[in-house]
Amino acid sequence: MHLSIITCLPRLLESPFNDSILKRAQQKNLATVEIIDLRDYATGKHLSVDDYAFGGGAGMVLMIEPIDRCITDLKTKRKYDEVIYMSPDGDLFNQAMANELSLKKNLILLCGHYKGVDERVREHLVTREISIGDYVLSGGELAAAVVADAVIRLLPGVLNDETSALSDSFQDGLVAPPVYTRPAEYKGWKVPEVLLSGDHTKIEDWKHEKALERTRKRRPGLMVD
Ligand code: SAH
Repeated sequence: MHLSIITCLPRLLESPFNDSILKRAQQKNLATVEIIDLRDYATGKHLSVDDYAFGGGAGMVLMIEPIDRCITDLKTKRKYDEVIYMSPDGDLFNQAMANELSLKKNLILLCGHYKGVDERVREHLVTREISIGDYVLSGGELAAAVVADAVIRLLPGVLNDETSALSDSFQDGLVAPPVYTRPAEYKGWKVPEVLLSGDHTKIEDWKHEKALERTRKRRPGLMVD
């Protein structure tokens, strides 16, 4: 999978992709993430990428021209499945959407900033809009990193234990059961006995029961019964 993330603040995206699982995915060539500086596509005397909003009002707006030039240039190098604009009023991101996007080959993620992007970008250049929640961030960079992380960790081979992603919350309509590690007792707080029993059937039954219990309590909307 190849992700091209367009931003006017590329430094905001340096660290999420240079550590841990996302770094490993790139080292193993399972995913490539390209951070594109919108300023490289700026034109005009001041090489600006934003301007005042027509009609007034506070906040700058990212201009269509650099964005159009950037997307057009990217499209000469790859065939993109989607051009996704990160937007607070987009489709709400969830695990099902992460699963679906993980099957795509090339994606563009466009990050807005300030007041957002010129509406004509959304009307003519974007194929899809995604929100990571009903709150407003300063820019689309953190939202794009969230989407990229959720998607890349699903690619086969990225996680060491291939079944690991399948046992995460939401994959089977349930949230994940609790997990414990050593020591088996800390300050008198004990790990459930069954997990130390070595009886795998019993352990799996316990995990399933706990996942059901937790889903009923915390995310009853996920239950399909
Ligand atoms: N004026 C806009 C908000 C702009 S916030 C409004 O009220 O809807 C600046 C940028 O941050 C947006 O262009 C978008 O790319 C990004 N952004 C903010 N909140 C987001 C969210 N919840 N999900 C995805 N992107 C978001």
